[in-house]
Amino acid sequence: MHGTNLLSFVAEPHPAPMDPAERAALLRDPGFGRAFTDHMVSIRFEQGRGWHDARVGPRRPLEMDPASAVFHYAQEIFEGLKAYKLADGGAALFRADANAARFRASAERMAMPVLPDALFLQAVRELVAADRAWFPDIPGGSLYLRPFMIADEAFLGVRPASRYLFLVIATAAGAYFRGGAPAVTLWTSEDYTRAAPGGTGAAKCGGNYAGSLAAQAEAIRHGCDQVVFLDAAERRWVEELGGMNLFFAFADGSLRTPPLSGTILPGITRDSLLAIARDAGVRVEEERYALADWRADAESGRLTEAFACGTAAVVTPIGRVRGRGFDFAVGGGAGGPVAAELKAALTGIQLGERPDPHGWVERLF
Ligand SMILES: *Cc1c(COP(=O)(O)O)cnc(C)c1O
Repeated sequence: MHGTNLLSFVAEPHPAPMDPAERAALLRDPGFGRAFTDHMVSIRFEQGRGWHDARVGPRRPLEMDPASAVFHYAQEIFEGLKAYKLADGGAALFRADANAARFRASAERMAMPVLPDALFLQAVRELVAADRAWFPDIPGGSLYLRPFMIADEAFLGVRPASRYLFLVIATAAGAYFRGGAPAVTLWTSEDYTRAAPGGTGAAKCGGNYAGSLAAQAEAIRHGCDQVVFLDAAERRWVEELGGMNLFFAFADGSLRTPPLSGTILPGITRDSLLAIARDAGVRVEEERYALADWRADAESGRLTEAFACGTAAVVTPIGRVRGRGFDFAVGGGAGGPVAAELKAALTGIQLGERPDPHGWVERLF
């Protein structure tokens, strides 16, 4: 280990990477989350020894002891970020330092070892370099990077594990919604909540997702696309979706998003849209918003748009909101200009087509 928290990565190129013709066929319509690249990064952690054994090698199945702590007590955290193909053929990361910082915060919450930001960033850059042949050559094409950490000590006692594995895998990603995002219908869950005060809602951990799936299934049963969660204490305040933050746009030109109270995941897309809107002189409030007000404001026309945001889909307009005994439309039931303009502004920066006043874009090659 160098003094700067950097490790030298052992490079182990894939002995049999996917045939270029087969890869090209896959990349013509990669969809999301299934076109896995040839390589992965792995770094091990052991108490007393620290982070070691960093490598970029072939993507392959893991061999793990069935008693590994992650299988039993779910010590697992993850990140999601994209490397974007630029117009000139180069590639760039967007705010990867913010993902590194959030990964650190998630690790602390789940009593896992902290991976130094520099090592997180180095791992991501190494994987993009190894798999640079995997960028889809389509507008909006990107590599979706999935860094994650699991506890792999074989021990059934309940305490933080002493051994961990950090991995980064990647999938080629097309535009998440081809031809622009359609407006989605949300189901308001009354039976389930996502995160309680003092819980793990602000950590990006798999457990939060596991706990949201029954609510998501309920949404699908009711013919809706996604579930929207209310706060656990009062069941009154709108928080977020299972994997996206929420914004509300009003007729007076202002924007609102629920505050980071500890039960909401601090989205980097959320933070970026806040900055872009503020830069444009829009009044933005990080304030709680009651479901009852959402409904009243949508019906009165005071609220003109609502949309969800996250790395994978960027901005998703919300057309309708349903729940037990209610059903209301937002705006005209389709996407509106505020969501479209914010999406264009953000993707313009990410793809190097617009000025980057905050220094969010890091060119890789
Ligand atoms: C990842 C995630 C988001 C969005 O975060 P981004 O950094 O914008 O991708 C929002 N909510 C939840 C619960 C998440 O896990």
